[in-house]
Amino acid sequence: MRELQVWKFGGTSLGNGVLMRSAAELVVEALGTRDLIVVCSAMGDTTDHLMAVADAASRGDSQTAIETIRRLREAHVRACREAVGDVEVRKEVESFVAERTEELEKVATSASLLREVTDRTRDLIASFGERLSTKIFWGALKSMGVDAVYLEGGEAGIVTDDSFGSANPLMPLTAQLLRERVGRLIAEGKVPVVTGYIAANKEGVTTTLGRGGSDYTATLIAYSLDAKEVWLWTDVDGMMSADPRVVGTARVLRRISYDEAVEMAYFGAKGLQIRTILPAKEKGILIRIKNTFNPEAEGTVICDSTEREPGVTKAVLFTKNVSMLTVKGDVLKGGVLSARVLAVLEKLKVVPLMISQSVSSASISVVLPKPVTDLVVPGLEREVIGELGGGELEVERDVAAIAVIGEGMKGTPGVASRVFTAVAKRGINVRMIAQGSSELNISFVVKERDAEEAVRAVHEAFIG
Ligand code: ASP
Ligand code: MG
Repeated sequence: MRELQVWKFGGTSLGNGVLMRSAAELVVEALGTRDLIVVCSAMGDTTDHLMAVADAASRGDSQTAIETIRRLREAHVRACREAVGDVEVRKEVESFVAERTEELEKVATSASLLREVTDRTRDLIASFGERLSTKIFWGALKSMGVDAVYLEGGEAGIVTDDSFGSANPLMPLTAQLLRERVGRLIAEGKVPVVTGYIAANKEGVTTTLGRGGSDYTATLIAYSLDAKEVWLWTDVDGMMSADPRVVGTARVLRRISYDEAVEMAYFGAKGLQIRTILPAKEKGILIRIKNTFNPEAEGTVICDSTEREPGVTKAVLFTKNVSMLTVKGDVLKGGVLSARVLAVLEKLKVVPLMISQSVSSASISVVLPKPVTDLVVPGLEREVIGELGGGELEVERDVAAIAVIGEGMKGTPGVASRVFTAVAKRGINVRMIAQGSSELNISFVVKERDAEEAVRAVHEAFIG
């Protein structure tokens, strides 16, 4: 039996028709030795432009919306000419592009009149990116003689709840439908080409899996069909030990564990959604990050920790998109301070990146994604500070969180002291520290302006 793999191509790998053609050539070559399901992202930064269409429509600015759509149409028609060699197939794809963009213009015009774009409408608008790119990619494969079948996420079987903007697949229904529909095509020797990112709710209304959701489409399909590997084709050689713009000696990681990948995803690595990793982890499906611009490079393999690369720490990552809130107060009538703070977060569905509490229970600090700060502050003021004797809430937005990640830290003494010695030597003040009990990661908070220097210091101490 031929091995089954899911290959997902990211936006930059499909940035224009010429790139699409070379991506399609990679697929054709690989089909000689394995069965493939292909998942496509939107072309280049199309999704950002579609979000701009939605924003313009919500302001009632139909002119900007329409102009943006026309530019997108031109780019896709051009890509079509470059990528789809066969004249008949090209005609079919070109009329698809024409019809879909016309439909999109209608949606944008109506929304502009209403001056309202609901989350549901925004998902519909966003879905056009993957529909257009995937159809063109389908055309490129067809032209190369591949028996390809175009499927939108919902048609393929991905059914979600109604959380528009970042919907959740309903399992096991989704797995069952994917097995039936996509599995049948594979059994017939066909090559399913599926739109990433988009899905549908039970009523068939278009939903999306959130920004960067195409990777998740790929692992969901792999999970459901028991594929052996998922290849995420992108524009870099793999996951790196640090941001190469910050650390000149940052290197590509050959192998990391699922858990390390999850930790890295929390800190924004490769724009990976955390939930992308979970289906692969559950079934032990190997994920490879590959570079379409350098396909010979091995890339990064995400797999079971038993096979991981040696080394205490793998990566030093940081994010400035956080804020730190500290609640101080001596006496809390009838309650535990941290429990109160976390209850507020829970109610607002906010997940903290880090939590740290002093022994005396007189203060607790939480690190949160920056965009939710304004949501949380009033909640804490009302429900915690108001009840504290002389309580105080300190809000710091000019901070960065740094994570030192690696399974090798487990049971290795002295890692923390090396981390903080390295940082202290550069005269950088550490504002807060947290270590997960999994010992996969040591995180700390510094002022934003010190973040890059702190990352370099720790990277140098452990990785080089
Ligand atoms: N096109 C969508 C985005 O840009 C989904 C993806 O690329 O994975 O977020
Ligand atoms: Mg994209």
